[in-house]
Amino acid sequence: MIRLSAITPSGPAQLGNYLGAIRQWAAEGTDQDVYFISDLHAMTTSHNPARLRSLAREQLAVLIAAGVDPRSVAVQSDLVRELGALTWVLECTCTYGEAARMIQFKEKSAGQSSVRLSLLTYPVLMAADILLQGAHEVPVGDDQAQHVELARVLARRFNGTYGEVFVMPKSVVPPTAARVRDLADPSRKMAKSAKDAAGTVFVLDPPDLVRRKIKRAVTDDLGVVRYAPDAQPGVANLLEILAACTAKDPKELASTLSGYAELKEATAEAVVEELRGVRERTQALLDDPAELDRVRAHGAERARERCSHRLDAALRMSGL
Ligand code: ADP
Repeated sequence: MIRLSAITPSGPAQLGNYLGAIRQWAAEGTDQDVYFISDLHAMTTSHNPARLRSLAREQLAVLIAAGVDPRSVAVQSDLVRELGALTWVLECTCTYGEAARMIQFKEKSAGQSSVRLSLLTYPVLMAADILLQGAHEVPVGDDQAQHVELARVLARRFNGTYGEVFVMPKSVVPPTAARVRDLADPSRKMAKSAKDAAGTVFVLDPPDLVRRKIKRAVTDDLGVVRYAPDAQPGVANLLEILAACTAKDPKELASTLSGYAELKEATAEAVVEELRGVRERTQALLDDPAELDRVRAHGAERARERCSHRLDAALRMSGL
């Protein structure tokens, strides 16, 4: 059983990525799974080449440092030839209407005067990611479920038209993990590409910066520490972060804390502690480029081996 997950290097890995995904990948993933650093997807909107390259490398280091099985991690662009080839074949089985119907495309392109064509077609690249690796399950949130559905449609169509090549993937709800909200605006989820980084704790932030950001987190003027996500979203977010770092229940934690200052201090210290090891190990990996290159090449080789027969079959059966 192969599960495929991905993180996009559109910014440095943040606390939500870590508590909500990376930590689970390290704890529950197997060497059969695939974890992509999806740098090709990070090119669908304006990007800086040097920054993209360094963010992809950094995220690779973060995943390995967090304990994700290095054999299961690959940088997507290391397979750009394979993925590019299958994307073309799949684009030739997908209609414009199907791509234009994607909610993410509608949302991200709305009001833009110029839109990269890849923003329209990237769900087809995502289908190639999934189908080339033969993934059975793709754990995704609601926002990506439609893209996995498109991958199913394209797999079924290809198999029906040219012959059985692809495994039918399905989207699955990821195991309940922490959902971290922006510290400056708890109505939004914490995201690595947020305009204002004050509300985002990055995995590699030095401890004092983590403390400062958490100290400035938005709360409210009710002055009571209660776990009430609707009425007190800022306080509830801090309680959830603290709970995720200490493996405790946010409601129980609330009853042990007497005020916002105490809540922030406890949360800041728990986050600093939680990130300390991964930050240090990431730094050590970044300081040893030869080792990181070795790990990267090995992961890419494995992902390539897994997909080469399927790619050959798909090209041949579609007439190439
Ligand atoms: P981002 O929103 O930071 O660009 P990605 O789309 O690269 O994140 O997602 C990588 C993984 O991190 C996904 O599994 C996603 O569900 C998870 N994730 C991202 N942000 C958060 C968050 N604020 N809280 C919990 N999980 C998150």
